[in-house]
Amino acid sequence: MYTLIRDFLWDDSKKNKNKKSLYHLIHSKGPISKSDVLKSFSVPQTTLTRMVAELESNGWIRSGGFGQPSGGRPPILYKVQKDSGFLIGIEIARVVQVLLLDIEFNILNRKMFSVTTEHTPEVTISIIIDMIKQLIQTHQLSANDIIGIGIGAVGPLDRKNGRMINPESFIAPGWDNVPIINELQKEFPVPIIINNGANTAALAEYQAQLFSSENLLYCISGYGIRCGFIHAGISLNSRQGDASSYGHIIVEPGGRLCSCGKRGCLNAYSSFGAMFEQIKREVPSLELTSSSQLVEALTQKVQIVEKVVLESAYYYGLAIANMMNLLHPDVVLLQGRLIEESGAYLNKVISIATDHAYSSRSQDIIIRKGQLGRDAVAVGAAVEVFQSFFSKE
Ligand SMILES: [Zn+2]
Repeated sequence: MYTLIRDFLWDDSKKNKNKKSLYHLIHSKGPISKSDVLKSFSVPQTTLTRMVAELESNGWIRSGGFGQPSGGRPPILYKVQKDSGFLIGIEIARVVQVLLLDIEFNILNRKMFSVTTEHTPEVTISIIIDMIKQLIQTHQLSANDIIGIGIGAVGPLDRKNGRMINPESFIAPGWDNVPIINELQKEFPVPIIINNGANTAALAEYQAQLFSSENLLYCISGYGIRCGFIHAGISLNSRQGDASSYGHIIVEPGGRLCSCGKRGCLNAYSSFGAMFEQIKREVPSLELTSSSQLVEALTQKVQIVEKVVLESAYYYGLAIANMMNLLHPDVVLLQGRLIEESGAYLNKVISIATDHAYSSRSQDIIIRKGQLGRDAVAVGAAVEVFQSFFSKE
């Protein structure tokens, strides 16, 4: 018998399998009655009653109200005890965000910082470790209450060995083959997963189930441009988790020179860096170096900045249309600083993507801002590590 939920969730033994499946069902479908559980769970009713009592007496599930009676007494509905365990979700991009979540993926608290030229891997990792410790302390938890850590990062990644391989948008030295999972595991000996942030964000939005879509394309635009795709509930992962290669699809044959050495890539038109360069080409005295300055210039209606931003939206919309033609999503979700802060940019991306996507269906595809905003990456990473406990079911 365990006292900690994490020992229960980490136990992949055959003996524990049914109980974990039951817990997983209550987690995803709760509040749910025993008779509804029995519909998708083939055990004798007495066995189910015993297992439910055990999960309840451990404080991992609880009764959460009553369902509609079908003659006789109304059935008790069960749901997970949301503060029986906690997860850490981390986004590693130009802004690093560390979230503390309960086991139902509600965000309890957050810490964040921007990555500058000072943020070598050593510095970055030690700040992340401190932030996790602070979150644990602030909520009067112990390290034992943390059941897993998920990281959504910019690629390329070696997911199997838990390494970040030279992210192209990072400006501090040393980001080459960084064993981030190992480093965190020294401080927090819990399961840790890493995946591309665009994939974890797609998973978070899918999990939130705010629309009944099976195929979901998730695109992030910023210093780099990334996308993730969920097909029938499962994330399509490239081997290196390198969703940033999306930034190098060609939107203008023979066009502007890209940082990768080739011409006409999306990054050379629609990344922040490309916009800064284009603004400087047009008005040499206007030198922007951060997304905050760009947003500020838009607020002040600086004409050349508005023009360059809308031009970047045009190329980004074309790229999204290409992805729509390839992947046939039901929903396309967009995230990024300009998506959040400029309605003109968002509308242009949506109209260009819709106009250029093939098929009569293109008008039916929903393209919009992601519901979870920039939290999606870190939340999805926590969802992914939680789901990994059940992958051997
Ligand atoms: Zn390129």
